[in-house]
Amino acid sequence: MKRIYMDHQSAVPLDGRVLEYALPFLKDRFGNPSSQHTPGLEAREAVEEARGKIAALVNAGAPKNIILTGGATEANNLAVRGAAYRNADKIGKKAVCSAIEHMSVLNPVRELKKNGFETELAPVDGHGLVDLGRLAEIAVPGTVVTSVMYANSEIGTIQPVREIGKIVRAAGSIFHVDATAAAGRIPIDVEADGIDLLTISSSDLGGPRGAGALYVRPGVKLQTVMPGGGQERGLRSGTENVFAIAGMGEAARLAALEMNEESSRLAEIRDALISGLLGIEETYLTGHPEKRLPHHASVRFTAIEGEGILLLMDRAGIQVSTGSACSSQTLQASHVLLAIGLKHEEVHGSMVLTLGRSSVIEDVPYVVATAAETVTRLRAMSPVWNRKKS
Ligand code: PMP
Repeated sequence: MKRIYMDHQSAVPLDGRVLEYALPFLKDRFGNPSSQHTPGLEAREAVEEARGKIAALVNAGAPKNIILTGGATEANNLAVRGAAYRNADKIGKKAVCSAIEHMSVLNPVRELKKNGFETELAPVDGHGLVDLGRLAEIAVPGTVVTSVMYANSEIGTIQPVREIGKIVRAAGSIFHVDATAAAGRIPIDVEADGIDLLTISSSDLGGPRGAGALYVRPGVKLQTVMPGGGQERGLRSGTENVFAIAGMGEAARLAALEMNEESSRLAEIRDALISGLLGIEETYLTGHPEKRLPHHASVRFTAIEGEGILLLMDRAGIQVSTGSACSSQTLQASHVLLAIGLKHEEVHGSMVLTLGRSSVIEDVPYVVATAAETVTRLRAMSPVWNRKKS
C-alpha cells in the first residue's frame, strides 16, 4: 500500500542530502571537537560551520550567539530555567509563558513555581493568538523571562512575535521564543523580532535527531542546566554530537535556500486539504485560518475520538496525528485545544496533518475521501453522535 505520510510535526524524514553531508562524521571524521589533533580540529571545524549556518537561518549575527544542545527540549530548558535562575536577583522572580506552549516550556515554568517563582500563563484567543492586552498586564516589570512560541505545532497558529517582543522587552523581561515548529517553514529574524533567546530543533528542519540550538542574544546571561566539561561556553557541557550538529547545519542551510518555494508549494496543498476536510459535516478548523504554518492543516470532528481517526487513517495508508505526539503518552486532553476555548467533549476528535517534501497535491482527494469515510464509520459507532441525531 502506498504510504501518505502527513505527520511531519511528529517526525520529519532525514533529508538525503543532509545524510550524505553528515555521514562522514559518524565514521571517518570521528574526532572529538575538543581534541587538538587533526581529527579533533576537523570535527571542531564541522561544528563551527554548522553554528554559522544555523545563525544565518534566523539572522542571529555571529555564530557564537548559537549554543548547540541535544534538541529542542534541552534548548527550552536552558532558556527558561537558565534565564530565570541566573537573572532572578537582578530582574525579579516572575516567569510568564503562553498557555499553549510545548511541555518543554510549561514544565520548566512549573518547576520555577515550585522553587518560589511567581508564574502566570498568558491566555490565547479562539484562534490561538496570544491576547496582547492580557500579556501586557501579565508580563510586568520584575518578570525575568517570558516565553511565547513562534508557532504552535498542534494548531499551526503563528504568533505576532514582533508585537509580543515589544511588550515583553518594554517590561524589561528576557524574551524567549520556541521556534521548533516555525524554523525553516517561515522566515525568522531575531533582530527584527526583538528576540533574546530562540529555540531551534534539528529534526524539525529535516536534520538528524539529537541536535538543537538556542540563540542567545549577546549580553543575555544564562545559568547552565548541564554542568560538566565546559563545552558550549559552559552552558551545555557534553561531547558534541558532531554528526547531528553537522547535519543540522546543512539542514538549516538548505531550509534557508528552499523555504520560500517549498512553503508556497505546501501552502497550496494545505489549503486544498482544509477546504476538502471542512466539507465533512460538523468539522471545524482548529487554529488560525490565515496566520498558520504553511505545511499545517488541523481540524476537529464532533462526536468521535482522535485515536480512532488515527488508526483508521493509518489502515488506509495515511499517517496523521491527533494533537501532539509528545503528550500522547499522558493521554491527557490537549491543553492547547482547551486553551483556545474548546470544551472537554470537543477536544477529542482532532486531526492534525503536517506536510513535507513527500506531500503532493494529487494525494488530497484520497486523503479527504478517506477522512470522510473514517468519520462516517466512527460516528456510526458513536453514542454521542447517535444521541445527537436521533
Ligand atoms: N517545542 C515544540 C513547539 C515542539 O513541537 C516540540 C516537539 N517536536 C518540542 C519543543 C520538543 O522537541 P524535542 O522533543 O525534539 O526535544
